Amino acid sequence: MRDVTAKRAVVIGAGFGGIALAIRLQRAGVQTTLIEKRDKPGGRAYVWKEQGFTFDAGPTVITDPDCLTELFEGTGRSLSDYAELMPVDPFYRLCWEDGKSFDYNDDQAAMERQIASFNPADVEGYNRFHAYSEELYQEGYVRLGAVPFQSFWSMIKAAPELARLESWNSVHAMVARHIQDPHLRQAFSFHTLLVGGDPFKTSSVYALIHALERRGGVWFARGGTGALIAGLVKGFEDLGGTIRLNTSVERIETEGDRATGVTLDTGETIRADMVASNADVVHTYDKLLGRTPRGKAKAKSLKSKRFSMSLFVLHFGTSKPQPQLAHHTICFGPRYRELISEIFSGPDLPEDFSLYLHAPCATDPSMAPEGMSSHYVLSPVPHLGAADIDWETKGPEYREKIIDYLEARYIPNLRRDLVTTRIWTPADFKEDLNAHLGSAFSLEPILTQSAWFRPHNRDDVISNLYVVGAGTHPGAGIPGVVGSAKATAGLMLEQAAKVP
Ligand SMILES: Cc1cc2nc3c(=O)[nH]c(=O)nc-3n(C[C@H](O)[C@H](O)[C@H](O)COP(=O)(O)OP(=O)(O)OC[C@H]3O[C@@H](n4cnc5c(N)ncnc54)[C@H](O)[C@@H]3O)c2cc1C
Repeated sequence: MRDVTAKRAVVIGAGFGGIALAIRLQRAGVQTTLIEKRDKPGGRAYVWKEQGFTFDAGPTVITDPDCLTELFEGTGRSLSDYAELMPVDPFYRLCWEDGKSFDYNDDQAAMERQIASFNPADVEGYNRFHAYSEELYQEGYVRLGAVPFQSFWSMIKAAPELARLESWNSVHAMVARHIQDPHLRQAFSFHTLLVGGDPFKTSSVYALIHALERRGGVWFARGGTGALIAGLVKGFEDLGGTIRLNTSVERIETEGDRATGVTLDTGETIRADMVASNADVVHTYDKLLGRTPRGKAKAKSLKSKRFSMSLFVLHFGTSKPQPQLAHHTICFGPRYRELISEIFSGPDLPEDFSLYLHAPCATDPSMAPEGMSSHYVLSPVPHLGAADIDWETKGPEYREKIIDYLEARYIPNLRRDLVTTRIWTPADFKEDLNAHLGSAFSLEPILTQSAWFRPHNRDDVISNLYVVGAGTHPGAGIPGVVGSAKATAGLMLEQAAKVP
């Protein structure tokens, strides 16, 4: 084994996956430069500060905090030096238009009591589902969540166990096998939407999210996810890493089948022994490697795949606190299966919606000026390939429709008390994050686009080029992309130790 400390790596993109990878490389001694096109790190986990309100752009539900704690193992530092995670209870409040609601958490007795109030017979079914979810968790997350599926064979080896767990069924099909009540079927299947999956199509492996949450809880970073990102980046810098913001990579440079570095929008070229991209996978192959035969071929094949839906996000601050709201509320609309089908397939913006409403002041009042409240509400919407909506026009109309809905059902006098609003649409995902079709979660997590079928962490042709993040195995979500960083770091460090 060679010393890796003479090696230099470039990581393109400072999303959770890019930052986690950069920390793992830097802590092993590889001189790592993290390059981010925007003015702040975080990617989907960007943050805006406005009039004293803190608005996290994306992830707010932090599960499996251990995957973050692990990043600092062996460094003499710990995550708690850089960020504080606070437990959230309930994990989610689920609300339906008929007035029913369900507070979801890890209290078995409370869960059973609430399930019984919907349908007593479902208590036993829920416990069977929970046991099934536990098995999936052990197999799909603990054993395979951070495995780089570089070869078809590595997937075949995992197949018997996943076949026994009937992973060809959808999450909703497995929930429906155990649970009868239509509300509860939604309550235990909607989670795939949080990682860009249609519960009626996503492999039942993703039902492991239930066990992941029940075991590890749901957390929120003090000061918001933006504060967590800032802490992770500080940790990376303290380890000796370099981050360059406001710097876009224009090209990955290659010589034959090797990457030699990256060229920036300024024209500067940074040479490196290894290059990893946390940028969108289509952008990586199509734009950054578009001059090479490998880039052209891979981009063509990726573009033929199915991509996750996009999101419309409305951030708003109110002049009053909103103590009636839980931290995370899922506001189910009138339709479920049909709505999800229209969100994933278009051809237009559905008339109705289901929303996720974020009220971080429920856990951390510092997210808004004293006596006020900071929020975002998101609506899953088709990506630009499924519905080519002119969001410049449609966005403000859609905002008004959502504000009316929230005012009627969740936040009395919302219009009167609004201090500030901002919207983020599929067009922004495309423009600001280079996301293919404006997808919020990259490749859709269906069985035929999972594990080995997702882009491999080490490119099959350019042997020192790596991809990390939501477009790779296991997929979107913080635990997913941090797991993909672990798998990628393992491959890179192995190569760094071998190649002179
Ligand atoms: C609104 C929303 C809410 C979500 N909520 C949750 C949640 O509650 N819990 C959860 O676990 N997950 C959630 N997710 C999913 C999760 O946020 C993402 O899956 C994850 O953050 C993606 O991380 P990533 O590593 O793939 O990188 P990304 O966040 O996609 O970052 C990639 C980075 O690359 C940069 N980049 C792109 N091109 C270039 C270039 N050419 N040069 C330099 N830099 C470039 C981009 O600017 C970006 O910063 C949510 C997502 C969204 C959008």
